[in-house]
Amino acid sequence: MKKVFEKFNLQLDEQKVDKFNRYYELLVEYNERFNLTAIVNKDEVIVKHFVDSLLGAKYFTKGKLIDIGSGAGFPAIPLKIFNDDLDVTLVEATGKKCTFLNAVIKELGLKNIKVVNDRAEILGKNPDFREKFDFCSARAVARLNTLAEYCMPFVKVDGYFIPYKGDVTEELEDGKRAVKLLGGKIEKVDEFLLEDAKRSIVLVKKVSNTQNIYPRGNGKERKKPL
Ligand code: SAM
Repeated sequence: MKKVFEKFNLQLDEQKVDKFNRYYELLVEYNERFNLTAIVNKDEVIVKHFVDSLLGAKYFTKGKLIDIGSGAGFPAIPLKIFNDDLDVTLVEATGKKCTFLNAVIKELGLKNIKVVNDRAEILGKNPDFREKFDFCSARAVARLNTLAEYCMPFVKVDGYFIPYKGDVTEELEDGKRAVKLLGGKIEKVDEFLLEDAKRSIVLVKKVSNTQNIYPRGNGKERKKPL
């Protein structure tokens, strides 16, 4: 495992490598019952889930991170294993995925990390969560314009919304408009080739508060994106 990470210039100590190994074992063990991932080959999981999750690691420095639509934990659990300074909240709508996430947290002995079984567009209205986070991540949850409405309400002014995307080119124009309406500004897009797959990390800075009308709810984020 260590060697595969090193191939991508990621230096991890033994304890972190052990945690990633245990995470992989749990993923495979729970996958049959919980349908968590189509990828089970170990090297593929390392590259397409673990390394991919760490592509944006340099942006997640210290502070509070909320991850929306965590599924089996990507990208936030790898980010937490890599950088223990992060205080992490995982938001996931499906109960059984939350069961898996809680099992990983317990088995890996992770601290300052919790799971919330809710929908982003509901939780985003809750004052305990609204504009309380330094970072918000999300991978493979929705198109950028929809995703921005789910995510931007959680981010503090001067914090960052950092979506993980494939090829984002086609979503970018619509995404920019939505981000602006929600109080954000796209600072840059980092592009990577991960074994021939195009990956993009978008850096969105929150420059002003998000108006209380967002997220609009009732599925509008998806059906009538900004
Ligand atoms: N982020 C993970 C990854 O990259 O492997 C999971 C991606 S999976 C395709 C999308 C996940 O987002 C699902 O687990 C789904 O239940 C969750 N999800 C979708 N919409 C959501 C919402 N509005 N609020 C919370 N979770 C949501």
